[in-house]
Amino acid sequence: QDSNNQFGEKDKVRVVVRIRPTSDQEQANGDQEIVSCDRASLIVEGKTQSRKFFFDSVFDPNSNQDEVFNYSGIKRLIDMAIDGFVCTCFAYGQTGSGKTYTMVGPAGAYEMNTQDRYLHFGLIPRSINYLFNQLRQRTSDSQSVFYIRVSYYEIYNEQIRDLINPNSGRKLEIRGSQEEGFFVDNLFATYIETMDEILTILREGEYNRSTASHLLNEHSSRSHAVLTIQVENELQNSDDPREQMTKLGKLIFVDLAGSEKVKVTMSKGKQLTETNNINKSLLVLGTCISALSDQNKRDGHIPYRDSKLTKLLSESLGGSGITLMIACISPAMTCENESLNTLRYANRAQ
Ligand code: ADP
Ligand code: MG
Repeated sequence: QDSNNQFGEKDKVRVVVRIRPTSDQEQANGDQEIVSCDRASLIVEGKTQSRKFFFDSVFDPNSNQDEVFNYSGIKRLIDMAIDGFVCTCFAYGQTGSGKTYTMVGPAGAYEMNTQDRYLHFGLIPRSINYLFNQLRQRTSDSQSVFYIRVSYYEIYNEQIRDLINPNSGRKLEIRGSQEEGFFVDNLFATYIETMDEILTILREGEYNRSTASHLLNEHSSRSHAVLTIQVENELQNSDDPREQMTKLGKLIFVDLAGSEKVKVTMSKGKQLTETNNINKSLLVLGTCISALSDQNKRDGHIPYRDSKLTKLLSESLGGSGITLMIACISPAMTCENESLNTLRYANRAQ
């Protein structure tokens, strides 16, 4: 059990797959289930052939939010962020495959009463809860002080929008360099001390995404949402109380744009550039991650600069932190091609 939910000693990238349950719509349409799995592999029983894939972990349609939190490896990312590393968790998959459900929870989870809602919460609220608990333990018996700071932005059509403070009127540009690290200049970041504060940020972020577009689904399926949780640790040198050190770790959650190929006939003018930009950044991300997961390629040239997303994540991906990719798929026959594309992409990343 244990080896199956942890990063190996040298693992830089861990890739897991989550298969969501068949939806009511798929059921009503008589859409067949074609995906079966065990703990570390899955089989897609396609129309013409069946294919088998192996991953670090596979979560079947019955697995709940708690299991994904406990066995995906995310706790290791949080622990490392507390120790000053920069770690990233991606959700990848076609629109409707369960990325947001896995990261945040089902729509409306915040409105439920406090008892029920935790069961539904996805990785982000659970991680915050775990983080606060860890920090409470660490500060009870040491000279450490921790500050948690959160920023939230989206990249839509290669443009960056602040999801916490969208109307600041400030244009958000990337600054920095490969050596110093790239960052979004003028991005709003806020200190949080409670679970409720992160829930408010997530809810308002969702709202701010939706008001940016008349076509909510289209917008959010085409944008990458990046939530950064910065863990600042001030600690006293035990040999010399006059010396103070600061460690700065980060935990980054990325709800990626839908991986589906948009039909060319639908993509004209503005829409076409959007599709190109999105597919391009997902493509570049795949190339970067697959290079990183290969020990021989890790020190060679990695094309972070080829998209805004990878540029901003280069510190995290290229540093000594670790990366978790959660590939989300539907079990339905009508999604066969997109699911196979997702599994191939995920496979390349490991
Ligand atoms: P995406 O963000 O990839 O577009 P969503 O997370 O919005 O997909 O999921 C699409 C629909 O399927 C939503 O109604 C969501 O609540 C539901 N869903 C996704 N994953 C699960 C799951 N593991 N269990 C139950 N419902 C799920
Ligand atoms: Mg979504």
